[in-house]
Amino acid sequence: MTVQTDIAAPPSKMTVSDTHVAIEIRKMNKWYGSFHVLRDIDLKVMQGERIVIAGPSGSGKSTLIRCINRLEEHQEGDIIVDGIELTNDLRRIDEVRREVGMVFQHFNLFPHLTVLQNLTLAPIWVRGMPKAEAEATAMQYLERVKIPEQANKFPGQLSGGQQQRVAIARSLCMNPKIMLFDEPTSALDPEMIKEVLDVMVHLAEEGMTMICVTHEMGFARQVANRVIFMDQGQIIEQDEPEKFFSNPQHERTKLFLSQIL
Ligand code: ADP
Ligand code: MG
Repeated sequence: MTVQTDIAAPPSKMTVSDTHVAIEIRKMNKWYGSFHVLRDIDLKVMQGERIVIAGPSGSGKSTLIRCINRLEEHQEGDIIVDGIELTNDLRRIDEVRREVGMVFQHFNLFPHLTVLQNLTLAPIWVRGMPKAEAEATAMQYLERVKIPEQANKFPGQLSGGQQQRVAIARSLCMNPKIMLFDEPTSALDPEMIKEVLDVMVHLAEEGMTMICVTHEMGFARQVANRVIFMDQGQIIEQDEPEKFFSNPQHERTKLFLSQIL
């Protein structure tokens, strides 16, 4: 699956901080009941990094990124997001959710609210932003994802690609420092994949720290500074895209790449 996006080479704005750690995961383990789903995960993400996570279905990719904004709990090890350690303290979870935006495969928009209402709900009710300001911000982000004319429609009246762009705009309205994407294009028809990837490329160009679970390897080559390969709950290998694709080290990575490229 290789979809060409608008840019040819990473622009210079996509710089990685030497000093500011966005996410640090140390010796993290997670179980679902007796099933050991994540094993000894160590991962440090610097501010400005664009990380693509790939791996077979069931390898734990979604679980890993869901742990980062505490949609899932881990049982062992540490997860520190922008200096906030994820513990059972609910106040800290709210703090983290404010820093981290997430976009899901199935958009997860509220079907009974208009696009504009989907975008302003959290800024008004979670942030206490005045309605007019929230709407102005929402319109700015709808312009950025190139669908301001859809503001008063309901999600069901939009195409899948438009709905996913609304979902991205909705996350951005909360002004996150980190964006997590869980297979954001895998529920889309092929002709809509590019319009969503282009939005993600532009976000990367603006310096957003991003972790994207995706099998769009064209996107990985263009945007990622690091590709991480997971299998059976472990990070098996990680490298910059050129090396990862041209010279994978592990048999499981080679097999996976031979199946998807
Ligand atoms: P991926 O995103 O790589 O496909 P997931 O993180 O969704 O993998 O799932 C990893 C493994 O954990 C799979 O075997 C899956 O069946 C299992 N799993 C996922 N969510 C749950 C859950 N809520 N309860 C029990 N097992 C789960
Ligand atoms: Mg998944």
